[in-house]
Amino acid sequence: MQRYFLRPDQFQGQIVTIEGDDAHHLQRVMRAEVGDEVICSNGKDREARVRITSLDKSSITGEAVEELPMNAEPAVKVWIAQSLPKGDKMEIVIQKGTEIGAARFLPFLSERTVVQYDAKKEAKRTERWQKIAKEAAEQAHRNRVPEVESVLSWKQLLRQADQVDAAWICYEKEDGKQLRTAIQEALETEKAMSFLFAVGPEGGFTEQEIQQAEAAGFISVSLGKRILRTETAAMVGLTCLLYETGEMGGS
Ligand code: SAH
Repeated sequence: MQRYFLRPDQFQGQIVTIEGDDAHHLQRVMRAEVGDEVICSNGKDREARVRITSLDKSSITGEAVEELPMNAEPAVKVWIAQSLPKGDKMEIVIQKGTEIGAARFLPFLSERTVVQYDAKKEAKRTERWQKIAKEAAEQAHRNRVPEVESVLSWKQLLRQADQVDAAWICYEKEDGKQLRTAIQEALETEKAMSFLFAVGPEGGFTEQEIQQAEAAGFISVSLGKRILRTETAAMVGLTCLLYETGEMGGS
């Protein structure tokens, strides 16, 4: 069944209003008619099966006929901090990371970031990324849309380590701490529930950046002996962590 994330104010008791792109999609692409059903979520605390009662050009009205449980979110919160990659790779990271179960995306700038950072285009780009997260969350039957932050400076990124129980910086030259050990230590000894993976750009992090990150509370981890592309690295970290916590089919 088609799913839509709506703003909380689009739910008024049992009456649900679908507007904008969602209304357009439902009418024009899905060819919805009165009596058809969709699932609507307010992205917070309410998700319902909604039967369409009327359609007009710009909005669709429906009635909530069944409240649904919201149990598709991972118990652990995983943030992906991604140094801005080239081309449309950030979109891939957001789309795939949302499907897998990331809670938040933090794009950031680092020394070897090669993409031209254009503050003027920033708002538009963040908006597009948020739309990608919303659509991926709908497609993946998630109960919440992950947040996509606007681009952080390196200094702002460093401060994020304090916001989670465990912050890891993925470093291909790390020969001490391996991802599996790092995950097990965080889960067993620290009983951590919130995590952050920081991933470098195509050219990687500099040694100095790794030192600064460690001083700020990040733990440098290796994801194995192969060098992964920047858009692959976070997916691997995220998936391994969710696997270890029983979120990838299992318990
Ligand atoms: N240019 C570098 C590789 C950068 S890979 C080189 O050729 O040596 C891009 C990013 O992916 C890295 O900054 C790191 O965060 C992550 N990454 C890729 N492979 C990794 C691995 N095996 N272990 C940890 N991090 C890895």
